[in-house]
Amino acid sequence: MRTADVGGVAVPVDHLIGGEWVGSSETFETRSPLDWDAGALADVARGDQATADQAVSAAVAGFAEWGSWPAAKRAGVMRRMADLIESRTDEIAIVESLDMAFLLRSMKARLVGRGALNFRLYADLIEAAEERDWPAKNMRNVVQRMPAGPAVVITPWNAPFMLSTWKLAPALAAGNSVIHKPAEWSPLSAALLAELTLEAGFPPGAYNLVQGIGEEVGAALVADDRIRRITFTGSPETARHIGRSAADNIVPFGAELGGKGPLVVFADADLDAAAHRAAWQFDDSGQVCLAGTRILVDVSIREPFLEAFHRHADAMVLGDSRQDETDIAPMVHPDHRDNVHAFVERARAAGDTIVRGGTKAPDSLHYEPTLIEPASNDSEVVQSEIFGPVLTFQTFDDEAEAIEMANSTAYGLSAIVFTTSAERAERVGRALRCGLVWVNTFLVRDLTAPFGGCGISGIGREGGDHALEFHSDLKTLMILDDSVSPDQP
Ligand code: NAD
Repeated sequence: MRTADVGGVAVPVDHLIGGEWVGSSETFETRSPLDWDAGALADVARGDQATADQAVSAAVAGFAEWGSWPAAKRAGVMRRMADLIESRTDEIAIVESLDMAFLLRSMKARLVGRGALNFRLYADLIEAAEERDWPAKNMRNVVQRMPAGPAVVITPWNAPFMLSTWKLAPALAAGNSVIHKPAEWSPLSAALLAELTLEAGFPPGAYNLVQGIGEEVGAALVADDRIRRITFTGSPETARHIGRSAADNIVPFGAELGGKGPLVVFADADLDAAAHRAAWQFDDSGQVCLAGTRILVDVSIREPFLEAFHRHADAMVLGDSRQDETDIAPMVHPDHRDNVHAFVERARAAGDTIVRGGTKAPDSLHYEPTLIEPASNDSEVVQSEIFGPVLTFQTFDDEAEAIEMANSTAYGLSAIVFTTSAERAERVGRALRCGLVWVNTFLVRDLTAPFGGCGISGIGREGGDHALEFHSDLKTLMILDDSVSPDQP
């Protein structure tokens, strides 16, 4: 097994296929956004068509074993996996912080633990799952939940560790074997996860990791007709490609995609709390699908809101993701930072007002936290996901206009509302067209609640039993039973 030393951690840089580490003749480079010019953090195996074929064959064999295990036995392995993740918190956190500049303190305090919790929760859910069994129409009727088969799990570069556990745990709990293809801009924490599966006791081929470029090995994996589920988190553009492969092979395809969430502040809101939360949408350099990037404020509180927003934004510290005082770390990649800047330049040229920020840092991948007041609701910066520290600011006259503006993009992932009125919270919350609405709070979510988007923000729902349903095939078994009366429903 080849490894790279990443912050003192030996990180495997090959694929994990059928329980063995497997290299490729080609590699790709991952760099640290903290020190881009230092060159490669690691040279990672670059999978190709042959790698994909090998991984799918291993997953087919792995499924025959893992998919036949009783739920309690699978749950035991999942719980060991959770324990192992927790035991390696510091290593996972530093690798993620170097590989994609995720805040080290957030990794240690929240995200690694939530990753472990994903495995623990699905161990509990799969053990608790009951079969429906009822008499009707002269028959005993039983609904059996069958694992679907090998699943391809494709994840994005933002919050890569936590998002990977979130998608992998339900697939595995359901009894599917998996092939995980992480994003090429932040592939390393997935390798630690793969390493832990060997210790946790998954049988060979139940859990496979394939590294490489999306358009190459990712496309080859999703095109393989032996795959029975595809679950993807990433951009709508990539989802269109993957969806075509899923359609060709008639494979259920779940997609968690981009967002353009509104953050709506009513005049009755706790203004300082709302402005603080709005400024904190710059967190993770705005590379957050759920972020409330469109700030919509009652026109009557425009000036005090802006004053408080700037005060909170000014207090945020740009720095190195490993340092405790840092709030905003560098962006993941120069290409992405340049794409974000191009949005701002086009907005400027189109007549939108750049209220703050709008510049690249001269000597790092930081992008200055940016607020834009668009000339119109049709402006590109209002209608398209930017995925960087760029927020828009607009005002509304009344509740009806706030709802109309909130619902006015093709996306529909999440929304944040600030109001002290319980009636308004419920009324507005119900009127919003999206998968998740937070009122006077943000990001906290019980893992059993459904998660997903409307419109181009996604297909289907993850979270709790919803993800288990996706990864299962239900079978209705009907056994003639003369003791059951024919006139039962
Ligand atoms: P992306 O679509 O570019 O890539 C995501 C993954 O798809 C990567 O692993 C990539 O290698 C792979 N890929 C690319 N082309 C492929 C192809 N043709 N076939 C198979 N796989 C392919 O997205 P990204 O830039 O990594 O992530 C950012 C996007 O993800 C944003 O739109 C963001 O909002 C979204 N996102 C959504 C959620 C959510 O839960 N809804 C969470 C995080 C990120």
